Amino acid sequence: MPEEEQHYLTGLDLAGRRVLVVGGGTVAQRRLPRLLAAGAAVEVVAPHTTPSVQALADAGELVWHARPYRAGEDGDVADAWYALACTDDPAVNATVVADAERARVFCVRADDGTGGSAVTPATGHHDGLLVGVLSGGTPLRSAAVRDAVLDGLSSGVVADPGESGPDEARTGGVALVGGGPGDPELITVRGRRLLGRADVVVVDRLAPRELLDELPPHVEVVDAAKIPYGRAAAQDVLNRTLVEHARAGRFVVRLKGGDPYVFGRGFEEVLACAEADVPVTVVPGVTSAFSAPAAADVPVTHRGVAHEVVVVSGHVPPGDERSLVDWDALGRLRGTVVLLMGVERLGRFTDALVEAGRPKDTPVAVVQEGTLRSQRVVRGTLADIAASVTEAGIRPPAVTVVGPVAGLA
Ligand code: SAH
Repeated sequence: MPEEEQHYLTGLDLAGRRVLVVGGGTVAQRRLPRLLAAGAAVEVVAPHTTPSVQALADAGELVWHARPYRAGEDGDVADAWYALACTDDPAVNATVVADAERARVFCVRADDGTGGSAVTPATGHHDGLLVGVLSGGTPLRSAAVRDAVLDGLSSGVVADPGESGPDEARTGGVALVGGGPGDPELITVRGRRLLGRADVVVVDRLAPRELLDELPPHVEVVDAAKIPYGRAAAQDVLNRTLVEHARAGRFVVRLKGGDPYVFGRGFEEVLACAEADVPVTVVPGVTSAFSAPAAADVPVTHRGVAHEVVVVSGHVPPGDERSLVDWDALGRLRGTVVLLMGVERLGRFTDALVEAGRPKDTPVAVVQEGTLRSQRVVRGTLADIAASVTEAGIRPPAVTVVGPVAGLA
């Protein structure tokens, strides 16, 4: 890197300090959230702004002066601690930089990285850490390195020993993590970060198992495989496993498919931990009830088509004495019904809906292994879908979407 492009990386305490942003376009808009998060007293000077900048002004988060930049010694730069020249007019930006130089205010010039007296690093957050990368005029390079570092931190590849804030991983405890529908990219950032710090991972069959490949070798993986309609790994044993590991001071991630609280027995595990005085957190996940249809281009709601979506367990069929589902009420709905766990006796469910009044030609889509490479979709109507599913050899896990939205694709 040439000498003149060497910068000095520092952290500014901007809390309550006046920061001048000249320009109200998309460049300014990108910089504003972090300035505001740092507590800066931001003043935007620009004749026009984007709607988001306007919204920040309306909400009182910053002050917007709707006029051109005022140059000179008593102009806008006076009394600022920091300035950003973000207009689309190079001459205005140059004036801001020159005024700032005279006033000894550090100033970023957005259209010419080295034209100002300061540059904005590529930044990112990870669990209370702020990561910044400067590369002396190659912003794509800094952004790529920033992304790689953040990625490494969230997967645990880059170790992060000392963190602040509430931290389950230091004290032992259990995190119930919703892993999403199966595609390893559909876990939440928080879920992935906690997974990267686990000592023990107790994993469901439908959880995103590819993520286990990333775990360091010392991590103990316990398989809680529950096979649909087969013998469930007794929930008691599972609960005890979580509690015992946590009591031994280990950090346990209970990695579940979808969202822990959507037919995932998550709350039973939370109660078991609470009863045993084991600290427990829940990380919500992307539920297959909505994401498997989405992966098959079926929106569970659509304006003017469906104003309701009901997620139903097909764990027990209609008429079963254990059932808590009012199939007659479901049959009267016009919107969307998403059925989980019901694909092996789909006919029982479609019959129940038709008997309760749902038209036979109501569109239905069945999505097997949604979001995975092996995803399969079968479409039809309430009248014929059960036969089509049998013929196609559709197996669990699959979700069934009933309603006009299933016919939009
Ligand atoms: N907690 C999970 C659901 C657990 S019940 C969630 O929020 O997604 C298990 C049922 O979820 C399966 O029988 C199936 O109906 C559905 N399911 C889970 N993953 C799926 C996937 N990738 N594609 C289709 N259905 C899925």
